[in-house]
Parts: sequence; C-alpha cells; structure tokens
Amino acid sequence: MIEAPAGKIDVDRFRARHEAMAAIGATGRGGIDRQALTEAEIEARALVIGWARLRGYALSVDPIGNLFIRRPGRGGGFAPVLAGSHLDSQPNGGNFDGVYGVLAALEVLEALDDGGIETDRPIEVVVWTNEEGARFQPTTMGSAVYVGALPLQQALAVRGRDGVTVSEALACMLRKLPHCADRALATPLHAYVEAHIEQGPILESARRKIGVVLGIQGLRQYAVTVEGTEAHAGTTPRLRRRDAFVAARRIAAEFDRVATDAKDIARLTIGRFDVSPGTTNTIPGKVTMTVDVRHPDEHELERLDRAIREICRERAQPCSASIETLLTSRTVNFATSVVDAVREEAARLGHGALDIMSGATHDAAFLARLCPTGMIFVPCRDGVSHNEAEYTSLENMVAGVEVLAGVVQRLSRREAGVGA
Ligand SMILES: [Zn+2]
Repeated sequence: MIEAPAGKIDVDRFRARHEAMAAIGATGRGGIDRQALTEAEIEARALVIGWARLRGYALSVDPIGNLFIRRPGRGGGFAPVLAGSHLDSQPNGGNFDGVYGVLAALEVLEALDDGGIETDRPIEVVVWTNEEGARFQPTTMGSAVYVGALPLQQALAVRGRDGVTVSEALACMLRKLPHCADRALATPLHAYVEAHIEQGPILESARRKIGVVLGIQGLRQYAVTVEGTEAHAGTTPRLRRRDAFVAARRIAAEFDRVATDAKDIARLTIGRFDVSPGTTNTIPGKVTMTVDVRHPDEHELERLDRAIREICRERAQPCSASIETLLTSRTVNFATSVVDAVREEAARLGHGALDIMSGATHDAAFLARLCPTGMIFVPCRDGVSHNEAEYTSLENMVAGVEVLAGVVQRLSRREAGVGA
C-alpha cells in the first residue's frame, strides 16, 4: 500500500499560480490570448520554468519546442511517467484549457517533494507546443511531432497567419527562455496522463467531479479550395459566372447535410472561410475553407471522408474544388491500466466519477501511440470552452490534482505493469 501525496497538495500555491498564469496574455474580458510561441506563451513558459528551477528540476526542450521538467526517480534508468498539457490558447481563450493540466502536473511533483516521497521512476511535466493550432496548423503539433506522426521538417516549415514560420518562432522562444538541455523526440515513456477540463457539459449535468476518460473520438481536418474566375460584379451575366463563393456555400451546405445524424453524434465545423479577392465589386475567384469532422466510430469517419470528397468532386461546377487533408487522428481507446488507475484513485479519494469519451482531441491522442495513456477530466461550467467565459471551480481543479497525484504515483512504481 502506497501513501498518496494528496495531503501535501498546496491549494493556496496552486490557486496563486493559476491566477498568475491568467494574467499572461489577459484580454481584459476575463480570458486570454496566448497563441503558440507568441510573447505571451513564451512568458507563460518562463514562469513555469522559474517555478521548476526553484525546486532544482531538470529542464529540457525537444526540436519542436516541447518543454520537459523532470523530477528524478530512485535510479535504475527507468522510463519516466509523463503528465502535462499545453499553455497556448485560442485567440479568445479561457483560463483553464491546457494551463490546468500543466499546473496540476507541476503541483504533483511538488506535493511529492513536500511529502518527502521518492518514486522508483522519474516523473516529468510536459508543456506541449501548439496544441490549439490557432496560429499554426495543425492542432496538437508538438505531440504529433514527438511521436513521429508529423515529420519535424514539415512542422518547422509551417507559416502562421502572421507570416512567421514555426522554425522562426521557436528560435525566438529559445533566445528568450533560460537555457534548457536538448531532448530527443520519442524518448521512451512508461505512461502519459493528462488532466484537462471536459470542454463539454456531461460531467456537470451528471454532477460528477471526475471524468474517467476512456478515449478520444476520431478527427479529420481538411482544407478545401474552391476555384472560379474573378470577374466584374456589374457586367458578368449569371451564366458566364464562375463564382467561387456560390459554389463554396453550396458545398458547405452539403457537408452539413451529410454530417447530420438522428442521434447528434457526428460533428462537422467550417471554422475558416476566406473569400478572395474580397472586394465589393469583384466576383470571388477563390474560396478556402477548413473543415473539422469528428466521430467516435472510425467507420463513420471514413464514410464522412468519402462523402466530403464526393461533394467536392460533384458539387463545385462550374467551379472546381480540391481537398487537402490537414490532420488525421483516429479514434483512440486509452490503455486499460491507466483508465483503471484513474477510476480507482477517484473512488479511493471519494470523488464521484463517470466514464466518458472525449469529444475534443488532445495531445494524449498522439501519446497513446507511444505509451499507455489516459486522461482525467474535471467539469467546466455550462460545458463552455474555447471561450473567455470558460470556468471551473478551484474545488474541481483540486479534485483532479488529487486524482492525478495518485495515478502518477501508482504508475511510477517500478513493478507497475505498463509501458517500458
Ligand atoms: Zn486543451
């Protein structure tokens, strides 16, 4: 029987850090704009690094900028247990998505220190680069590169909406942060656990504090380009027009139709829709849009993929449409060993828990390719996320930290039967 470090969790410290983080990139409307590798996100990383250095934890950064903070184990060269999330946000983001999981993991390390608890395995906190994908496409870039799902050179060459490449933004970050050791990609991990707000309404509705996350529904993201011909808005008769906007809105409506199901399970979102040249008196010659499709059933995702491609082929006339896949993330089922640990720790601590499938994708989806992985959800008010109104109580957050501490400590035992 191991002693859990939950008693050494310092609620005041956790709250103070959460408040300090909320000030970085604050919009003044209650939320934050802390997009990946911007001044604000770099400042947030610097703050976390400062806290880690006070404890003497080892710091390292891999070639895509993922930051690792390591509390050593008893020795023996065992692979570490990793916990964390991300510090970047959407342009109108909230104060909980991502940052909660990073602060929760750091609190676990310090609670172990304060409790005088040694672990067989090292325990590491990770800050993943560009989880949100708001500035640079695609989302979950850092974890995708880490596990080898996205080639490093391809990610480094991505140009953000502001014209800056990932490579340039990373160089800027490294100049501003204190020195961290180099870390290789895909180093072996014993397990990965991520605490996160649910970003949906299920836990709150069920009045449960902890979501035992079983897996993550699959995701496909596409860029669709519709090409027509620019022409004068006043002189071009209907039959001579190749209006890219008219074709694109027809295509968008068809996308919506094929993703509408009776049980409301499929999710399809057109989050960007750019009309070019974007002048009042010119017929649009080009429209680009992003399409984000999700479903917990991989076969349904494949059906939607075929339908979307067929719509692009069949419904663009007299224009033409092309489709590029930006990201494919298959439905993920988390490792039983980690899922069971989350469920058992929640029960042991007396926190009401519920099994749940994640509707949002997370870095954990890619980590599951590399090692046994799981997630811990806490409720968020009205299920609202990616919004400045995003909120969860300190009580909920602390419950999640307690469960994370117990799970990490359990997985950090040398004989724990998962992973490397
Ligand atoms: Zn997140």
